[in-house]
Amino acid sequence: MAESSIVKVIRCIVCPTGCEIKAIKGADDKVSFDGYTCKRGLEYAEQEFYEPKRILTTTIRVENGFLPLIPVRTDVPILKEKLSEVLKIIAKTKVKTPIKMGDLLIENILDLGANIIASRDLSEP
Ligand code: SF4
Repeated sequence: MAESSIVKVIRCIVCPTGCEIKAIKGADDKVSFDGYTCKRGLEYAEQEFYEPKRILTTTIRVENGFLPLIPVRTDVPILKEKLSEVLKIIAKTKVKTPIKMGDLLIENILDLGANIIASRDLSEP
């Protein structure tokens, strides 16, 4: 009979305690989690194991700014597996100044329920 084994170690980032949570595959192939000390940690570990998400930070080209690029980010975490697809769309996008920090630059990108927003102000040249 197969023994249980650790398939992933996840550092919980929900609070500063930073618990180390182990995803363990049992003999029945079911995954359980060990090492969390609260419900939020378990939820984080399940999300991170089954469907990891990240806030994407990058830059978008600017047509008429005093800088050629503006730093941007998603307003909510998006699926990790979609990051490169989202980056391709952003690479083809150009925006115009004036831009205020928090301005929505691409709405609901790839229908992921996330917007691309400006991370700083950028005025016209
Ligand atoms: S499991 Fe709970 S206590 Fe531990 S880091 Fe995550 S949120 Fe904090």
